[in-house]
Amino acid sequence: MLKQNNPMEEAAYGLTFDFDYEEDIEAFPELLDFLKKYDIRAGLAVIGKFVEKYPDIHKRAVDEGHEIINHSYTHPDNPHWAPNKFFNKLTYAEQKEEIEKAHEVYSKILGVESIGFRTPHYGNLHTESVYPILAEMGYKYSSSTAACGYKGFGAPSAHSHGIIEIPTGCSLHFPLAIFDSWNMLRKNKPFLGDDELFVKEFLETIEIISQHGLFLTHYFDPYDVVKNNKMDRMLNGLKSVKTVLYRDIL
Ligand SMILES: [Zn+2]
Repeated sequence: MLKQNNPMEEAAYGLTFDFDYEEDIEAFPELLDFLKKYDIRAGLAVIGKFVEKYPDIHKRAVDEGHEIINHSYTHPDNPHWAPNKFFNKLTYAEQKEEIEKAHEVYSKILGVESIGFRTPHYGNLHTESVYPILAEMGYKYSSSTAACGYKGFGAPSAHSHGIIEIPTGCSLHFPLAIFDSWNMLRKNKPFLGDDELFVKEFLETIEIISQHGLFLTHYFDPYDVVKNNKMDRMLNGLKSVKTVLYRDIL
């Protein structure tokens, strides 16, 4: 959350979601309804296999102005399509195929040319080898790292091969953990483990960036945040800050 590196010169927030499992697809229509209610556009990291399987809901998202982020074709280690595979253990050619096939699916089914990527399973399975692949495909950004400990401490910065890396924000109260619904709520021994605390911390964080003119981005799992009315309260809190798409800040 660095002011001097804020590309927007005013408080700005990038809201994104990762669609990894069937339950995230089930939450998709409700999520889109909430975003529409608050007139907020978000970045959606979607996988090629789900776009093929559920084209209509993805088309609706595109029609409503949301940004499609390449999240690979099969999302290793998805239990249906790529069990026991890990993105960072794939060969360079396999990684390239994962990203290229997803790109083709978005183009063919959704009419979208994606310009950004998020590594499946994010930071832990992220690998530097994606940057030359992305550059070759004409991509502009990756958002696959955590702001905590990353160079620039959270501000988007030029990475290798001219790709901009947009790290996602960490927790106010647990600054070495990403503030996402997985770490905070869902995993075994989550940092917060409580929906009320989660919404409270989100709103506190938005208040800080709004007051100090900072840029920040998070990602959440749709299934986790539509539960217990969290999304409604979170989006209501975003009224105090300008929301942006990654494609608009580059
Ligand atoms: Zn994912």
